[in-house]
Amino acid sequence: MFENLSNNLAKAIKTLKGQGKITEINVAATVKEIRRALIQADVNYKVAKQITDDIKTNALGKDVLAAVSPGQLFTKVVSDELTKLMGSEKASINLNGKPAIILMAGLQGSGKTTFSAKLANYLKRQNKSVLLVACDIYRPAAAEQLHVLGQQIDVEVFSKVDHKDAIQIAQEGIEYAKNTHKQVVIIDTAGRQTVDVGMMQEIKKLQDTVKPAETLFVVDAMVGQDAVTTAQGFYEQLHFDGIVLTKLDGDTRGGAALSIRAVVSKPIKFIGTGEKLTDLDLFYPDRMAQRILGMGDVVSLVERAEQIYDEQEAKKLSQKLRKNQFNLDDFYSQIQQLKKMGNLKDLVSMIPGMSKIADNAGNIGEENFKAFETIIFSMTPQERAQPSLLDPNRRARVAKGSGMPIQEVNRLLKQFETMCQLMKQTQKGGIQHMMKLARK
Ligand code: GDP
Ligand code: MG
Repeated sequence: MFENLSNNLAKAIKTLKGQGKITEINVAATVKEIRRALIQADVNYKVAKQITDDIKTNALGKDVLAAVSPGQLFTKVVSDELTKLMGSEKASINLNGKPAIILMAGLQGSGKTTFSAKLANYLKRQNKSVLLVACDIYRPAAAEQLHVLGQQIDVEVFSKVDHKDAIQIAQEGIEYAKNTHKQVVIIDTAGRQTVDVGMMQEIKKLQDTVKPAETLFVVDAMVGQDAVTTAQGFYEQLHFDGIVLTKLDGDTRGGAALSIRAVVSKPIKFIGTGEKLTDLDLFYPDRMAQRILGMGDVVSLVERAEQIYDEQEAKKLSQKLRKNQFNLDDFYSQIQQLKKMGNLKDLVSMIPGMSKIADNAGNIGEENFKAFETIIFSMTPQERAQPSLLDPNRRARVAKGSGMPIQEVNRLLKQFETMCQLMKQTQKGGIQHMMKLARK
């Protein structure tokens, strides 16, 4: 998916490479190319204009750092703007209610029935008991289709043959779900080929009656701009909480994914990426942006590298701890890691029984990190490797050299002691273990 858009964006950004600075002149040409690429990918014209204007403003405001090229910096700006355009945050699904009711809406063929089953499967894997309710009373085979899918994933399906009132079926389904203690009810509905009065009336009436925790609007990404128009049509008449974009596995130009959020200001919550019932993904705007920019693998690569690094470091550290070789160099690299994670006290307070030590440790905040780094840099390599060398005389010298008060030096060494203590008490390798806990 998105191959053309990716290629064209990459080409556009390449025109910036080799330029020493991002200037009004060189950015203008690139931005024009980006706008052209977006419109070619079927992004709504207004949306394409807005985002490229934002990209331009943001890129011009940036100083090019020595470490990155203007092209790289620009890629980051574009990635950030694409992420913002698609909603920034990963949206979650509301499962309030006993049972929680989820209502599907969308045109015929958009993928409602398939998605209902995919979602049921997804929730079932989270140990939720789910009931699927077949409320498409117009297509004779619709209930049968849902039964077949339900069987594949071992989820019960409620339907009524020869029953001609979708609202009544929904009500009876919910009643049945209550009696059988289901946690979630997914109501699959009928769609028409266009947004017509009858369909809108029925779905609105369904919504008024069952009062769902979530109404999800399902739309086929393959229809491009039409998806956006349809979403707009629904949005004007029906309140919905989120969008499901299906068939993103197909030969889509991707424009719908990019413009729909901006047009109806509702988050994309799930994407369908195939006909199989496991082909369901949560929608992460940042990952999608990176994928569009052809940086898709970068994120997972970095994550994997970090994990491997964590594991290796943890092993090294626990060896050092066992041999009492943990020193201030290690402490320094721990600080670098902690900086990524936040406050030591926060991390520690997540581990049962550790909060007392945390109180003694006090807060290690952003300012302290900076001070600690300065102090550690003023020590000799021997002192860093063997902190017990740091007698009062040496401490005074370090304080003077770093321009820090002696109390700050003492505090650092106390923190170091505390950390050694902490790490000995956490079985699986100290900070790495805590960081893993904190990430959860
Ligand atoms: P409904 O009319 O809205 O209920 O749509 P259906 O769920 O019956 O889906 C219509 C067609 O689209 C079916 O052939 C599905 O297999 C297919 N479909 C649904 N979701 C996806 C998807 O994410 N990818 C692909 N390739 N096909 C899909
Ligand atoms: Mg259907």
